[in-house]
Amino acid sequence: MRIALKECVWESLGGDLFVITDPREVVTLADEEGQVAALFAALDRGPCTVPELRERLAEGGVALGEDDVHGAVAALDSLGLVEYEADRTLGDPALDARHFSNLAFFGTHSRLDRPRAEFVSRLRRSHVLVLGVGGGGSSVVQALAGLGVGRLTLVDRDEVEPRNFARQFLYHHADIGRSKVECAAEWVRAFDPEIEVRPVERWISGPDDLKDLLDGVDLVAGGLDGHPDANLWISDAAVGAGVPLVVGGITRSEVVYYSVSPGRSACVRCDWSDRPPADEASSGGFVERNRDRLALSNTLIGPLAMQIGSLVAYEALRYLTGFEEPRAAGAYIRLDLRDGLAPSRHPFTRDDACPVCPR
Ligand SMILES: [Zn+2]
Repeated sequence: MRIALKECVWESLGGDLFVITDPREVVTLADEEGQVAALFAALDRGPCTVPELRERLAEGGVALGEDDVHGAVAALDSLGLVEYEADRTLGDPALDARHFSNLAFFGTHSRLDRPRAEFVSRLRRSHVLVLGVGGGGSSVVQALAGLGVGRLTLVDRDEVEPRNFARQFLYHHADIGRSKVECAAEWVRAFDPEIEVRPVERWISGPDDLKDLLDGVDLVAGGLDGHPDANLWISDAAVGAGVPLVVGGITRSEVVYYSVSPGRSACVRCDWSDRPPADEASSGGFVERNRDRLALSNTLIGPLAMQIGSLVAYEALRYLTGFEEPRAAGAYIRLDLRDGLAPSRHPFTRDDACPVCPR
């Protein structure tokens, strides 16, 4: 297998070699003898096998045994600076062009044993259930489609209305009165015919309405309005099926999202049981009693809908590819609209007696 040097810039200075792959990050390598610089120069000539790399180094006057060259390559790999040439692309020029930026993104997270192409392939094999293709859901669908998620099941029961246009950019004027999921599915097919999309027109009135939809699904994304317990049902159904869940929404002053990693993080039911009963005569009880009335007037506008969709899709990307750990597992991430969208993290209360979480 031929080893390739990733995009980087280096310079020898004194007894050190400075390497930059990101303007925020300089790697400094001790290089009194100039051997590390010789290694970079040898790899810079183009992808090569370990024996070829050893030959190139020898040509430059650096005589190393094969084990030493393997060790040097492993050291570069631990810094994320090399990868196998064959793993950089999907092996099909049309697909490589389609996923150009996705491959570039994963290039910063790839290692010899974690190929960048595999991240994209995982997305192409993934099946995401998107609950609600309204405010946040529209943006989630667009972001997931751009990432190349291979299968999307879209659930909603609404029709396109003029008041959707401030924030739901999947729909056009000519769609007014049509089924949202049908229009959303059309958008996905037109955007990328390789994505398999299934529209489901359904009103979710309890966890049982979700059961048949979770079969073979890798992740649930979105959120449902219309009932105060809707996001509790989704969590119960997803955790019961062992499927990760990412949900986003908005209040008057915050963009909020969270995720649930079944069996690893606390779930929504865990956190729910910690809430004071709604009839408690306290100011907290007042907020609980009136929360649904506040939610009736939806203040979501385009830039914030895109913010929610983007955060939900990015967290989904963590679950689907494992490129990094989920950041919102078992926690609300609140972005404060009164403070320039500054984020804060609020972990769920874990309930050891939770009837839904697996033990
Ligand atoms: Zn739980």
